Amino acid sequence: MAIKVDHIGIATRELAEGLAVWRDTLGLKVAGTEEVEEQGVRVAMLELGDTHIELLESLRPSSAVAKFVEKRGPGIHHIAIEVEDIQAALAELRNRGARLVDETPRIGAGGCLVAFVHPSSTNGVLLELVQHR
Ligand code: ZN
Repeated sequence: MAIKVDHIGIATRELAEGLAVWRDTLGLKVAGTEEVEEQGVRVAMLELGDTHIELLESLRPSSAVAKFVEKRGPGIHHIAIEVEDIQAALAELRNRGARLVDETPRIGAGGCLVAFVHPSSTNGVLLELVQHR
């Protein structure tokens, strides 16, 4: 069901801190920035070969990214896998007993359909499924 690594999500205290590393030091190109209000984050997508680095900055203290940074500091937050059919992927994971954060897909960065799978059922890795539209 998995096609490729769509992006790696990295939590930052401020996007500027992440951009200083990934854009300024490593030279990656920023493909775009946007606010995903539903998830309470500001996002910067940087191009890296055929995948992306997704920098995340919290918009409010109650967001999942804010809680992550508060507890563990900045760092890798999730790995996103591109799937062809997100509904089918979720059904398959559910059948295999995976704990889903999102039972149904929602709209993520870039207008993609996304759904998260809880790290308790993926060996400690918060997994994001992405279906491009
Ligand atoms: Zn992501």
